[in-house]
Amino acid sequence: MNKPVDPAKSLRIGGFLPFTSVDYPGALAAVIFCQGCPLRCVYCHNRDLLPARGATQIEWREVHAHLARRKGLLDAVVFSGGEPLMQKALLPAMTAAKSLGYRIGLHTSGIAPDRLRAVLPVLDWVGFDVKAPFEKYDRVTGAKHAGRKARQSLTMLAETEIITEVRTTIWPGVIDAVDVRTLYREITEIGVQNFTLQEAREPTTRGPVGGDIFTDLELQSEMQNEFTNFTIRRVA
Ligand code: SF4
Repeated sequence: MNKPVDPAKSLRIGGFLPFTSVDYPGALAAVIFCQGCPLRCVYCHNRDLLPARGATQIEWREVHAHLARRKGLLDAVVFSGGEPLMQKALLPAMTAAKSLGYRIGLHTSGIAPDRLRAVLPVLDWVGFDVKAPFEKYDRVTGAKHAGRKARQSLTMLAETEIITEVRTTIWPGVIDAVDVRTLYREITEIGVQNFTLQEAREPTTRGPVGGDIFTDLELQSEMQNEFTNFTIRRVA
């Protein structure tokens, strides 16, 4: 009799970070960088991960074997990208990591609401990137309708108990203070309470890009009042 095929085996993995203390709040984690993303954000610095198939392919069985060996030493596994939700193998891979005892994290833009719905039962934490006011997503991502899907995903997530950090990366000249005000009002209406504004890195040099928003104390004060947790994250 043929051995059953492990559905997680087809997860296309473009990178693997065996240990990090910064990608899952309060936990030591491994990060799996899933290959493929349909968006083209102006500040993307993971461009090797954008095509559905990349030059580097790491086998799921190697990653799984590593996770099995690290049981008790790591707390969590974060699925990042690229956009993890683009892959059907995400749910079986998350389920396998969960079965080893790990908490499961997801970094996502929420571009595929149906796939997000499918993985909700195994998720413990989500880092959700809101790219722009929902009507203006194409400016940042180059993709029409991405804002509608992101809004749908974020609304779904806000109705769960899953711990979620929403973050927006500021690319000066594309997102200004008016956009940030629109955006934060949109996400507070959805019920978001944990919001981070983060500075972009220049994709080639990886240096800080800055922007007026980081010195706009009035805007920052408004957001401090709106959210339970509001954070500014500058490039170190
Ligand atoms: S969603 Fe992430 S991986 Fe995809 S293009 Fe934007 S920054 Fe890059």
